[in-house]
Amino acid sequence: MVINMNRKICDECDGKIVKKNIDYIFLGENLGSFPAEVCTKCGEEVFTEEITKKIAAITKQKGLWGLNDRTKINQIGGSVGVTINKKIAEFLQLRKGEEVIIYPENKKRLVIQVL
Ligand SMILES: [Zn+2]
Repeated sequence: MVINMNRKICDECDGKIVKKNIDYIFLGENLGSFPAEVCTKCGEEVFTEEITKKIAAITKQKGLWGLNDRTKINQIGGSVGVTINKKIAEFLQLRKGEEVIIYPENKKRLVIQVL
């Protein structure tokens, strides 16, 4: 996340920036309320480095660390696939052969729903 506090104008959309406390929701769990700069136009939220570290510490404490992963798209025949790491698979209790429902939530987000 970009750390550049005391912005007046949003880097993304030139909207007006306000400071406010926002709830940080990670994997459906509320990790607490933290001060952030929020764009009034596009809603982009930016935390200081200090707050980012604090949030990371809470995430580790709650055993949620490492569930946020980067993966690459593989080519499998005419389809593509992504590899889900062991930690995420265990967290969701995914087993080989199990069926899941996948659907795009929008052009930037793919949901894999466990049944
Ligand atoms: Zn903005």
